[in-house]
Amino acid sequence: MTEIRLYNSRTRRKETFEPLDPANVRMYVCGPTVYDRAHLGNARPVVTFDVLFRLLRHVYGEGAVTYVRNFTDVDDKINAAAQARRAAGDPRSLEGLIRERTDETIGWYHDDMDALGALRPTREPRATEWIGAMIAMIEGLIAKGHAYAAEGHVLFRVRSYAAYGALSGRSVDDMIAGARVEVAPFKEDPMDFVLWKPSDDELPGWDSPWGRGRPGWHIECSAMAHELLGASFDIHGGGIDLQFPHHENEIAQSCCAHPEGGFARVWMHNEMLQVEGRKMSKSLGNFFTVRDLLDQGWPGEVIRFVMLQTHYRKPMDWTEAKAREAERTLMRWTRAMTSDGLLNKRLNKGHVIQEVIDAISDDLNLPLAITRLHAAFDSAKRDDDALADFRATTDFLGLTDRNILSAARKFADIGDLALDHAKSLLVAAREQAMKSKDFSEVDRIKSVLIDAGVEVRMTRLGVELQSKRDFDPSKLDGLT
Ligand code: AMP
Ligand code: ZN
Repeated sequence: MTEIRLYNSRTRRKETFEPLDPANVRMYVCGPTVYDRAHLGNARPVVTFDVLFRLLRHVYGEGAVTYVRNFTDVDDKINAAAQARRAAGDPRSLEGLIRERTDETIGWYHDDMDALGALRPTREPRATEWIGAMIAMIEGLIAKGHAYAAEGHVLFRVRSYAAYGALSGRSVDDMIAGARVEVAPFKEDPMDFVLWKPSDDELPGWDSPWGRGRPGWHIECSAMAHELLGASFDIHGGGIDLQFPHHENEIAQSCCAHPEGGFARVWMHNEMLQVEGRKMSKSLGNFFTVRDLLDQGWPGEVIRFVMLQTHYRKPMDWTEAKAREAERTLMRWTRAMTSDGLLNKRLNKGHVIQEVIDAISDDLNLPLAITRLHAAFDSAKRDDDALADFRATTDFLGLTDRNILSAARKFADIGDLALDHAKSLLVAAREQAMKSKDFSEVDRIKSVLIDAGVEVRMTRLGVELQSKRDFDPSKLDGLT
């Protein structure tokens, strides 16, 4: 079995990955707060952990990996967006406005991340659907002395967890000295963080033993990870900006509430996507969305390919020069894969190239994997079997796995490609029919072509297709 090595932020070294249960490899990744379109930085963990998800499925089996990524749909920013709409005169209830906004944002998120070729995680829990589990976890923490209620709030008692700070390598005293911790009269210690806070009548809230209120952000992930993955699981991921305090707090809550488990064994953090040396973020205002790029005409495959070219633990910039280069490469690759009748020959399906898997298995070394892919393409140009393997590999990487023709169409002359493809299908069908004496498939392809505005001439010498002025390539979409 392929050996996977991953850099564990918790131990600060690369380790051989050994799942707790190879029949159910479990990974949790912090998902978005759904109040607005995802910016390009938000796509980085999605693409990074999508590659890891694909690798785990490849090594352990498609059904043997559970990937959970949450939606944070209760949050002050979401409330503020809904309140602003009411203030602007929208007569609907705050709850209705929030639900509409979060539903809409989740829809956008799916559209945008699908366009980047990211597989949907196995489970995508919404925080508001797991409030009961959060309340139960908070009650358990209070019962064990790790949390206390004060003035409608519940706070986690940081000093009650000796290992606090181990993930980010800071001591509690250092943190207090350097941190922007919120001081509040009801806190026993400035480091203590909120598990539950009160909601006034204007804000969404749930009944709880501490009055009507809503959960803090950190407890959401702890509760959902526990419900869906158990007290111990394999991998926890997210951006490096979440390491402190979010992940530190998740660990404290989960390990104190469920000391029988170890929470996540491997912690992985992607570095930031930057703009001129600074983290892309909504609050700095230096962002553009994934949708902006798609609307400018950059295919999702190009955006993904640019992301893959920088190792996930290095900061990266988006530049137009990188995008143009990626587009040129993908154009060459998809052209080769859609020409010369290869689509038919794919009947004997290729295998993902092992050298590429090996590179990815070394802490997701995608820059090396892509260098190897370039080398593989050079030999694949002359050899159909090698080209089939090459295609299986670009599929695996999420660059071509949806519809090679639709990808290719984005990169090259639409009509030519569609015709090349149709011709190769027709030639193959005719060869088959000569043997079987069954011409129904030939007739089917011919009638699709004629309907699409293509003149079909079949002679003993071969097949000729000539597009007419009313040729509509999209009508050839159904030909496979
Ligand atoms: P948020 O909605 O801000 O909580 O972020 C959702 C995910 O995107 C988290 O995993 C963040 O770490 C990640 N993230 C946010 N900004 C960036 C960035 N500029 N580069 C890479 N990842 C980011
Ligand atoms: Zn989280």
